[in-house]
Amino acid sequence: MPSVYNWQLGRPMRYPYEQAAPKEQFAFVININRCIGCQTCTMACKSTWTFAKGQEHMWWTNVETKPYGGYPQNWDVKILDLLEKANPGAQKWKGETDAGVKKPYGEFAGRTVFESPEFVARGEQPNHVLGYLPTDEEWRFPNIHEDVPPTGPTKPMDFGTGEDATGEKKHRAWFYYLARLCNHCSYPACLAACPRTAIYKRPEDGIVLIDQKECRGYRKCVEACPYKKSLYRGTTRTSEKCIACFPRVEGLEPECEGIPMETRCMEACIGQVRMQGLVKVDKDSTWIEDRKNPLYYLIHVARVALPLYPQFGTEPNGYYIPPRWVPTKYLEQMFGPGVQQAVERYRTPDRELLAVLQLFRRSNQIIARYEIEQGPKVYETTQNGKKFEMYNDTVIAFNCSGKEMFRTTVEEPVYIRPEAHANSI
Ligand code: SF4
Ligand code: SF4
Ligand code: SF4
Repeated sequence: MPSVYNWQLGRPMRYPYEQAAPKEQFAFVININRCIGCQTCTMACKSTWTFAKGQEHMWWTNVETKPYGGYPQNWDVKILDLLEKANPGAQKWKGETDAGVKKPYGEFAGRTVFESPEFVARGEQPNHVLGYLPTDEEWRFPNIHEDVPPTGPTKPMDFGTGEDATGEKKHRAWFYYLARLCNHCSYPACLAACPRTAIYKRPEDGIVLIDQKECRGYRKCVEACPYKKSLYRGTTRTSEKCIACFPRVEGLEPECEGIPMETRCMEACIGQVRMQGLVKVDKDSTWIEDRKNPLYYLIHVARVALPLYPQFGTEPNGYYIPPRWVPTKYLEQMFGPGVQQAVERYRTPDRELLAVLQLFRRSNQIIARYEIEQGPKVYETTQNGKKFEMYNDTVIAFNCSGKEMFRTTVEEPVYIRPEAHANSI
């Protein structure tokens, strides 16, 4: 079986196809700290792409409450359990977490879904992927256990304490919203498992699509995708998945006027927590330095955004700023070894990070580049023993054509209504 380089694992990895990289790669960052679980993103996708007969159960993007929620139910616990059974006690990371773009999280010493073939049903075929087919029951509840923490107060209003990502004492009761969609993986498990080669990764932007004419509904992709983001449609007897709103990314929708726009679920985000764009990748799928691309900055420079379950091995292109209030061990299982540093950097952001965080959802066009104009210092304090200074810098965003889209400041302007209109809009 060919070997490909997986930079999120910091090592080469077995994969059924030869290494091939797109010209650019679709990617996104979601800031969990600010997601309010409003499901506007979920409904934006639903009302655009999955409102037809046979798609009733389909949520290409969904928001689930962790630790208990999941669509389908327990998807991540089940695949983690399969991987553990395939490689007992050895699903571990080793090495340093700061070793550049080819090895930013150290090295994963365990096995991925492509490296555990003996545990896959019907294991004789070469392109096997560790996975399972969820039951109909498991697809029924898009967010069961909404807002349920792992432990409650032992007596009224006493939530107890436990350690958080920086070792500080925190409430034992916690939960958070995990917004998910297809990760348009660099090494898609859905594509690897399809016996009809009906799934393909576009060379121009890395978007992963299922050719509906070629698909015969064997559901191998549903079984193989560790994120369970390929779904079966009974009325057409084919599988369907998120299409990354490709007409928008291509700039072909009438409202785009030729300029690449962010996807529907990104643009609709009320909490302003989602940012999607395109990044340049090298032949081995590592990211080419593009210092002023906000996604490159958040993932490879500030290192506050981390991949979702990198140990699965698909090299997902969805990244998350982990929540500050959640125990480190839980987060490390989900986002890998970079969690503690990411939380610390987010908690006490430096000047550039604070400016870049203002870029989320100020425009619907894809941000290709940003610049910062320095402003005056407006605040300073000490946070967790570290000095924190806030500057009212201006961050300027440019679209894929190099045109300035908007500029915004770190301090949001405050408008105080005149007393006569205090209660009016
Ligand atoms: S998230 Fe799943 S469906 Fe999407 S590209 Fe990756 S393996 Fe395929
Ligand atoms: S990118 Fe488009 S198709 Fe994919 S989940 Fe978001 S809205 Fe749906
Ligand atoms: S729209 Fe934004 S804030 Fe609301 S649930 Fe989706 S990601 Fe979270």
